[in-house]
Amino acid sequence: MYPARTWRGRSQRYRLEGEICEGCGARLFPPRDVCPECQRPARTPYPLSGRGEVYSYTVVYEPPAGYEEQAPYIVALIKLEEGPLISAMLTDVEPEEVYIGMPVEMVTRVLHRQGEHGVIAYGYKFRPILRRTTAAAAMSSQPAKVAV
Ligand SMILES: [Zn+2]
Repeated sequence: MYPARTWRGRSQRYRLEGEICEGCGARLFPPRDVCPECQRPARTPYPLSGRGEVYSYTVVYEPPAGYEEQAPYIVALIKLEEGPLISAMLTDVEPEEVYIGMPVEMVTRVLHRQGEHGVIAYGYKFRPILRRTTAAAAMSSQPAKVAV
């Protein structure tokens, strides 16, 4: 494939790294080296937390080649805590469980397999942030169901 390109994309895909504009302080993701706000150079690496919330989403039933195994899958627009919007697959969640505003975090997962030799590409996906204590509290505070 394109080794140089794969290498360059590496920090974006595995660590979710953006850039800060030295001119106006805007936080960019994906890195583009030039600030869209003020057109000044933006080359200072900036590690993103990998946390955000679902801004919008869609369920893909007819995937492109290489993604068949994973269909149906959910592609969401994630609003990161730091502000940028990025699109990514969701994982560890069923389509009917997803909602706008759902807190999510980045995880590294298999993205797809290429060709019959099964070269596996890893990258980031997002999954719901597990809040066991909150969920447990919500369960216990719900009124008991009354059989009619
Ligand atoms: Zn700027």
